[in-house]
Amino acid sequence: MHAFYCRWAGDRLGESVGGAPQQKRRTYALADAKPHFAPDRPCDIVHIALTLQLDITQQSLRGTCATTVRAVQEAVPGLTLDAVDLQIVQVRQAGGATLLYDYDGQRLRVTFPEPLQRGAPATVEVDYSVTRPRLGLYFITPDAAYPHKPVQVWSQCQDEDARYWFPCFDTPNEKATTEMTVTVPQPYFALSNGTLLSTTREEAAGTITYHWLQDQPHSTYLMTLVVGEFSERTEMVDGLPVQWYVTPGREDDGQRAFGDTPEMVRFFSQKLGVPYPWNKYAQIAVSDFVFGGMENTTATTQTDLTLHDARAHLDFSSNGLVAHELAHQWFGNLLTCKHWSHAWLNEGFATYFDALFHEHHKGTDEFRYYMHQNAKAYFREDGEEYRRPIVTNVYKEPIDLFDHHLYEKGSLVLHMLRYMLGDEVFWGSLQQYVTANRHQVVETVDLERAIETATGRNLQAFFQQWVYKGGHPEYQVEFAWDDATHIATVTVRQQQQTSTEHGVETPLFDMPVTLLFTLPEDEGAPAEREPSAFPLRVHEQLHTFHIALPAKPLWMSFDPGNWILKKLQLKEPKDMLIAQLQHDPDVMGRIYAAEALGEIGSLEAVASLRQVLEQETFWGVQAEVARILGQIHTPAALEALLANIRLPHPKARRAVVTALGEFKDDRSATTLIDIVHAGDASYFVEAEAAAALGKTRCDSALAPLQQAAHEPSWNETIRNGVFRGLAELQDESTIPLLRDFTTYGQPPMARYAAIRALGKLGGEKDPAPAPIVETLTALLDEEHFRTRMAVLDALESLHSPKTLPALERLRARDLDGRVQRRVEEVIEAIRSERRQTDEVQQLRDDFQALREENKKLLDRLDRLEALQTTGSKA
Ligand SMILES: [Zn+2]
Repeated sequence: MHAFYCRWAGDRLGESVGGAPQQKRRTYALADAKPHFAPDRPCDIVHIALTLQLDITQQSLRGTCATTVRAVQEAVPGLTLDAVDLQIVQVRQAGGATLLYDYDGQRLRVTFPEPLQRGAPATVEVDYSVTRPRLGLYFITPDAAYPHKPVQVWSQCQDEDARYWFPCFDTPNEKATTEMTVTVPQPYFALSNGTLLSTTREEAAGTITYHWLQDQPHSTYLMTLVVGEFSERTEMVDGLPVQWYVTPGREDDGQRAFGDTPEMVRFFSQKLGVPYPWNKYAQIAVSDFVFGGMENTTATTQTDLTLHDARAHLDFSSNGLVAHELAHQWFGNLLTCKHWSHAWLNEGFATYFDALFHEHHKGTDEFRYYMHQNAKAYFREDGEEYRRPIVTNVYKEPIDLFDHHLYEKGSLVLHMLRYMLGDEVFWGSLQQYVTANRHQVVETVDLERAIETATGRNLQAFFQQWVYKGGHPEYQVEFAWDDATHIATVTVRQQQQTSTEHGVETPLFDMPVTLLFTLPEDEGAPAEREPSAFPLRVHEQLHTFHIALPAKPLWMSFDPGNWILKKLQLKEPKDMLIAQLQHDPDVMGRIYAAEALGEIGSLEAVASLRQVLEQETFWGVQAEVARILGQIHTPAALEALLANIRLPHPKARRAVVTALGEFKDDRSATTLIDIVHAGDASYFVEAEAAAALGKTRCDSALAPLQQAAHEPSWNETIRNGVFRGLAELQDESTIPLLRDFTTYGQPPMARYAAIRALGKLGGEKDPAPAPIVETLTALLDEEHFRTRMAVLDALESLHSPKTLPALERLRARDLDGRVQRRVEEVIEAIRSERRQTDEVQQLRDDFQALREENKKLLDRLDRLEALQTTGSKA
C-alpha cells in the first residue's frame, strides 16, 4: 500500500509532508500504544464467497458472505469473524439450517451445531447489509459543489477495514481463495480480484452482475471491489493481460501514467526468476482515493492524481508508484507479512523494487540519487519526528507503522543486503526467499533463513543492528597525508549518540566499508587504480588507518557507490574535495564533496560549486549544489545561482529557484517575479518560483503572487506554490483570498494548499487571527480524510491553544488511523509548547519574587548596618 503514497503524492504533487519540524524527537509509540501479536487460527479459512447487490444512491449493499473453513484445532465450537457495524439478517449452515450467533457490532460469534473436529470442513453463510460503511467501502458521488465528479464505489481494506463491509477473519496471517459476485446498476463496470467468470445483464432490472474468482489464496486486506465507468486498455505480456482503467476521456493521461507497466512486469519476473504469479494485472485509477495506491491481488487501485498531462510528464513520473504496487504482487501478496510488525517485508521490498526499476530504466546515476532521496526521507523522520526499530509490535493502530522507517529505511536495508552479498548472490537469495515462501506468511527470520540456505551466510548480526535497533552510523572521516613517508592517515569516527532514547537503542554499527583512493594518472594509471581500494571493517567508535600509497591521492572515496545508509562528514584538504566534486565518476562522491565544501563556504569553495552548477552533467548533483549554495547564503553564492536560472534540466532549475528563496534580496525577488510572470515549461519550476518569491518577503512579491493565484494547473501544482509563497510573505491582507480557496467546491488540491498556508500564515502571529482559527477548526468536520489531514498540518503550524477543544473532539470521534495519529501529535505539540510557555512564565514570576525578597533583605541589612553605626557611635 502506499500508506505513504499519500505522502508520495505529498512530496511529488507539492503537498507539504506533515507539519512544522519538531525541535526535538518525540517518542514513536503513542501514549496508549500496546504490543500486538498475530491472532490464533482455530480454523483455516479456505474460501470466501461474497454475493452482493449494490445500491449506489442509498450508498448501501446487501448480500451474503459464505465462509468455508477447515478446523485446525480439536473440537472447534464455532467461528468468530470480525464485522463492524453490519446489519446481520441471519446466519446459516451451507444448505440451509440456521445457526446461533452472537453479535456485538464488532465481532460475530457463530456456534456450530456440534464442535468441528480437526480437519473437518464447514461453510457459514451470513446474510447481511450495510449502509454508508464508515470505512472499507467508499461511495463517491457528484454533488452541487462538485457536479462533474464521477460515480464510483471502491474498497480499501488494508490494514484491517475489510470488516466494515463484510464479515471475515480479518488478519494478514490467513489466506483464502475468494469470489465476488456483484450486481450493479447499468452501465457500471465492477472490477475485482482474479478471473471474470461471467457477466450477466438483467435488462428489466437495469443491472449487470459480474462474477469474479480469485483461485489462488490471499489475505482479506487484498480483496477489492471497484465500480464505475471506465475506459479499458489491455496489453499482453508473455500471455499475461496487463490492463489499466481510467475514467473516459483520460486515456492519454493513463498511458503516460501506466505505459511502462509491461516493461516492469518483464523486469521483475526476470530479475527474481519467479514469473508474475497471478492470472492478470490490472490497475484502476479512482477519484478521492485515500492512498496513493493499493496493491489488491491482481487489481491495484491507484489514485487518479497520478494521471497526468504532457506538461507534467516533463518532470513528473508515475513509475515510482506503479512499480511499487506491482512489486507487491510478489512481496505482500504472494509472500505476506505474518503480522504488521514485519510489514517492512511488504513495504521495504516494494520501495526497493521501485528504485530497482528506476536503475534499470534510467541508469546508475539516477538510481543512486533516488536511493539518496529515500535516505533523506528517512533522515527527516528520524531526525525531526522519532526513531524506532523497523520491526516493532508496539503501536496504537497498524497504520502507525507505515512510515519512512518502514518504506524508505526498509529499502535501504535491502540495498545494503545487496552490498553485503553482491548482485548475483543477492538475486539468488531473493529467488530462494520467494520460492520457499510463496503463498505463505513471512517474518523477518524467513528472509534471514532463505539467505542462509542460498549462501551459507548468517546475517543475524546485520539484521540485529539494522532492523531490530534504531538509527544509522554518522561517520566523520578525516584524511591526513605525510609527504615524507607517503602514508595516508584516515581516521573514522562513529559520531552517533549510542545511548538509549525513548527505549530505542542506537548501536555502534559494524559494517564492511571500502576506502578508495584515486591516484594521479602518472603515479597510478587507471589500470593500477584497483589496488588503491582498501576493504575495512568499521565497528569501533574510533579507528585510525595508516595506508601507504605511491602518491598523494587526488581524492578519497569512503564507501564508493554509497551503499551504506549513513551520514558522512568529510574532513579533507580543500583541493581533494574540489577534485572529487569535479571528477569523481560516482555521483554520490560528488555530492558528499559538495556538502563538505559547503561547510567550508569560502570564496574558493563557492567558485568551485558555481563551476559545477554550470558544467555538471547530472541534474541531481546540480540540484544538491544549488541547495548548498542557498545554505551558504553569501553574495557570491547568490551570484552563482542567479547566473544559472536557465539550467536545461527542469529538476535542476527547480532547485535553483528554490535556493533563491533563501535570499531576502531584491535581485532574487526580481528574478523570481520574472519566472512567475513569464512561466516555465515545467509546472513545478513555476510553482517553486512562486513559493520562493514569497520567502524573499520583498514588497514587490505580493501583486504577482495574487495574480498567479488565479492560474489553474494540473493537480493545482502552481496554486500550491503560490499559496506557500503567500504564507511565507506573512501579509494579512491575503487571508480573505486564502479563505476563499478553502471553501468546499474549490479544486480539492487548491483547498489543501490554502488550508496549510493559512496555518503557516497564522502561526507567526500572536495571537492567531480569529478568522483563521474559525476557518480551520470548522473544516475538521469534513468527510474526506485528506481535508482533515491538511487542517491538522495547518493547526500544528498555527499552534494555538484555542484550537485544542476542536482537536479533542476530533480525537474522540475520528476512525481513520492516520488522522488519529496526527491529531495526537498536534495536540501534544500545542500542549508541550503551552507547558513551555507556562514554565517560562513561572520562572519569570519566581525570579520577580526572589528579586523582591532580595530587595527586602537588602533593605533590612541597610537598616541593621545603620543601627549598628548609630549604636557604636553611642
Ligand atoms: Zn506499498
